[in-house]
Amino acid sequence: MKWKTPEPRPYYANYKRISAKNDCRGWFQCYELPGDIIAICEPQHLQEVNIYIIKGSERALVLDTGMGICNVEPLIRELWPGELTVVNCHRHFDHTGNNWRFPEVLIADEEGAIRQAKEGCPHEPLANQTDEDMFLFGYPEGFVPEDYWIRPFNAKVVEDGHIFDLGERKVELIYTPGHLEDHLMLFDHREKILFSGDMIYLGAIYVQFGSDLMGHSDLDQYIASLVKLQEKFPEIHAVYTSHNDFIMPPSCIQMIRDAMVAVRDKTVEGTPLRDEKYGYYGDPDTMKQYFFDGFSIVYKE
Ligand SMILES: [Zn+2]
Repeated sequence: MKWKTPEPRPYYANYKRISAKNDCRGWFQCYELPGDIIAICEPQHLQEVNIYIIKGSERALVLDTGMGICNVEPLIRELWPGELTVVNCHRHFDHTGNNWRFPEVLIADEEGAIRQAKEGCPHEPLANQTDEDMFLFGYPEGFVPEDYWIRPFNAKVVEDGHIFDLGERKVELIYTPGHLEDHLMLFDHREKILFSGDMIYLGAIYVQFGSDLMGHSDLDQYIASLVKLQEKFPEIHAVYTSHNDFIMPPSCIQMIRDAMVAVRDKTVEGTPLRDEKYGYYGDPDTMKQYFFDGFSIVYKE
């Protein structure tokens, strides 16, 4: 599907929309998903990122804080007035933009993620994300594109295998390096839902990062992480993703693993990619996009 179609994404019709006062004039959309989970998405920006609130009887776990273009904090407080713990699936801007508005955010014990928490991420590598073309209806009121950056925040590291007890609901954290070195996922033991972050979804999947500011991808680690989670959690019922459509069947894990293996083993042909506007800098002989059924992989050799 092309970006900027006038029709809303068809998959949103599959979910129960909930209205909220603090939605920043419709910048955020909220949905009630199966398993006592609320999704908040930002469909007006090309990233189409998803934030999740996983509700327990005593507290909620909030996965990510969105782009930080609009303030999500009052919305989260409105949807969940109780105790909450915020955790990031990795340090990219589209997941950490509102971190600074929360007293503490949990992150993986990884150098680059810890550094970003201390220093933030400056405007320069994110400038292309503020191009007016990235916005479905132009800039939201009050947004100053040249001022956009990711602010430092108060971080606390959380170990691989940590279990959050939300009250009658346990959620386990698993380190899954690949997309970036600090990437992690969550597994909800009660509902058997995997929160897959940026490693499993339908759309362009990125394994091309290689800079101090944006972090590093690693294809071998990506595959190893998918193998690890399949072994650790063989009973996954559904995958809740961080971009585009919220829910995917568990079979998509193997599908994406197979595609990654095909890219690694060069059994598929890639299309040379260089598009500075979208941040694909560098040599199109080494950066390529590999197309599969319903998704693609952007990889740099
Ligand atoms: Zn992302």
